[in-house]
Amino acid sequence: MKCKTESIVLRKFPYGESDLIITLFSKTHGKIKGFAKSGRVSKKRFNNSFQVGAQLQVMFNENPRSQMVSLLEAIPIKKYSSAFTLDSIANMMRILELADKFLAEGEASVEKYALMEKALDGITSNQFGKTDLLKFQFDWLIKCGFSPCFDSCVLCRIPLKSKAEWFFSSPLGGVTCSSCRTQEGSQLSSESVKLFTHIGREPFDCDDHLCAELDHLLSGYAEYVLGQELKARRLSNELI
Ligand SMILES: [Zn+2]
Repeated sequence: MKCKTESIVLRKFPYGESDLIITLFSKTHGKIKGFAKSGRVSKKRFNNSFQVGAQLQVMFNENPRSQMVSLLEAIPIKKYSSAFTLDSIANMMRILELADKFLAEGEASVEKYALMEKALDGITSNQFGKTDLLKFQFDWLIKCGFSPCFDSCVLCRIPLKSKAEWFFSSPLGGVTCSSCRTQEGSQLSSESVKLFTHIGREPFDCDDHLCAELDHLLSGYAEYVLGQELKARRLSNELI
């Protein structure tokens, strides 16, 4: 059956001399793998539009005998800004990796698609900073059903404001008070505790130091949930 849908390019691999294998997050069919015959050379059908992070209108044929669809045509929906900064590239790699690793094949989600679309629009217009990346990670985890608990101790339920020292535990998926602290729990700074009492309310505001702490915490939690390392994070830490 022939299908047409909006999609985001998550990954691409060269195949043979001129073909491509593309992983897409499509609006209607969720994450799909597509085979683009002559994808590296066909100007007429693809016009070199399979750039990682690109938002495309694609047409494809579903294969009854294979999970992989046959891509027939791709047209860019949005144009990139003229120049990407190193930060933009790193942010793009990080959100694409999160999407690729968290999405199951064929799982369509309008909400997750909208979240990705908004983030990519911000990145491609160079208006996506460290706090936006944090907000994206937080929202993405919530949409994937792994909302970290920041408002009270996950074990005794004492509210966040009640004690001075707090710890975050990835296996428990949230904060614990000092009495319930587990061995792997890492201590939170007073700034992050203060921020968590306001989380979900705009504006989401934090300085570089706090951003780095929260990024470490949320990424570590995502890695724990996934059971694997997020490589784009390590790469961007080495680059920037
Ligand atoms: Zn407790």
